[in-house]
Amino acid sequence: MAALRCRRDPCGFVCLILTYFSVLYADYVVIQYVLIPAYSGSVWCSLHGAVFNVILLLLLACHSKAVFSDPGMVPLPDTAIDFSDLRSQSSRKNERGCEGWTICSRCETYRPPRAHHCRVCQRCIRRMDHHCPWINNCVGELNQKYFIQFLFYTGLASLYSIALVVTAWIWRIRSERGGDGERDKEGDEAPSKHLVVAHYIILLVESVLFGVFVMVIFYDQLVSIITDETPIEQMRNRLMKERTTGNQHSHTRKPKLALLREVFGRGSVLCWLFPLHSSPPSAGGISYSALPDYDV
Ligand SMILES: [Zn+2]
Ligand SMILES: [Zn+2]
Repeated sequence: MAALRCRRDPCGFVCLILTYFSVLYADYVVIQYVLIPAYSGSVWCSLHGAVFNVILLLLLACHSKAVFSDPGMVPLPDTAIDFSDLRSQSSRKNERGCEGWTICSRCETYRPPRAHHCRVCQRCIRRMDHHCPWINNCVGELNQKYFIQFLFYTGLASLYSIALVVTAWIWRIRSERGGDGERDKEGDEAPSKHLVVAHYIILLVESVLFGVFVMVIFYDQLVSIITDETPIEQMRNRLMKERTTGNQHSHTRKPKLALLREVFGRGSVLCWLFPLHSSPPSAGGISYSALPDYDV
């Protein structure tokens, strides 16, 4: 339901189509123009084909989980909050004893610390990282794991396809120079040389662009987890530091592994590679696990 609400974003819809098309195209070129001509009759053909398709399946599974999972939307209250009353009370958080809780005037609800309002989703998202058109959803507390896994498998698939295309291209050049006549034997059924080269170039460009793009975001995501600051918080803390020079904003530092486990779950590190459901990080003792009662 949460994801369906985000479907209204046309940019997100286009990015989703582009993602599926790019994955299908890469698979088609790798099998049709790389593996079959270069490795036909060899066990490497099946092996590379199987490994590449497993990576693509994991990529799509993680992508689907990131798209359709609830990123951590703050529930809306059953009854409307009287905002005139709230504004007159200067320190609502003190009254409730929930430090860091704020009020979203657009959602008309209380939100826990680190929750931010997304203009695209039109909801407050717990530990919101950013709204990503490539998953047509917000990256938040509950789906960041799947988003990072999607980046990881996209990067892996990009590197793998670059390696396969380059290897096949070198093999093609060598076999042409060697004049062993293999191409001639295939006759008219073989795809034209220009078509093959065109597919190689398109896939290489696609892989390099996506590969570099996802690796940069992957690195940023890991840094934001380890430093325990989302990009929104980084920006806000930077502004606060500039305003209050010398008065350092104290940010409690947890061990890096504990921070990673909050995102990837408390299971085995091997499980971090798979889009498996793990208990929400709030179950691990994060202070804003409980929502306040809304009966104002
Ligand atoms: Zn909101
Ligand atoms: Zn959003």
